[in-house]
Amino acid sequence: MKSIAVYCGANAGADEVYAEAARAMGRALADHGIRLVYGGGNVGLMGTIADAVLAAGGQVTGVIPQQLVDRELAHPGLTELFVVRDMHERKALMAQRADGFIAMPGGMGTLEELFEMLTWSQLGIHSKPVGLLNVGGFYDQLVGFLGHAAHEGFIKPQHAGLMKVAADPHTLIQLLQ
Ligand code: AMP
Repeated sequence: MKSIAVYCGANAGADEVYAEAARAMGRALADHGIRLVYGGGNVGLMGTIADAVLAAGGQVTGVIPQQLVDRELAHPGLTELFVVRDMHERKALMAQRADGFIAMPGGMGTLEELFEMLTWSQLGIHSKPVGLLNVGGFYDQLVGFLGHAAHEGFIKPQHAGLMKVAADPHTLIQLLQ
């Protein structure tokens, strides 16, 4: 795997543990020689992980819609930054540039991006791995809910394992590989 798209919060979260996890994820990507593909912003966990990859000598591709260049403070120091027309182009280009996908703690935007990649995988639109970095149990209820949906017959058994889950970056990268 040469690149991974990481979806994460445009906010830093209420606990320092989330920023620390973003730094650890960034260092792990650089250690593995994996390029970070992300939303291109310099806010919240997005900015933190980009800075961590760059500080560790890694490479970062940002993809940001024109209308978010100011709101999400397009990162000035990336290896490459694509400014695209809208959210659809952003998601398509990120998906195309990445060999796998990881969601870290985040809000609705992060969840939307995670589930798009999971449902595209389910439909066979791509066959790239998808992982969830479950920092400090942040996603326990989501993982539990997906188990419930599978138990109730709304997620097929063969799709239940599409999302790999781990609490630390190195384990998650290994699961995706
Ligand atoms: P959030 O998890 O809500 O903090 O958002 C994280 C990132 O997802 C931010 O860069 C948002 O601009 C982005 N985002 C929010 N909604 C969408 C969407 N529908 N499609 C693609 N990206 C989105």
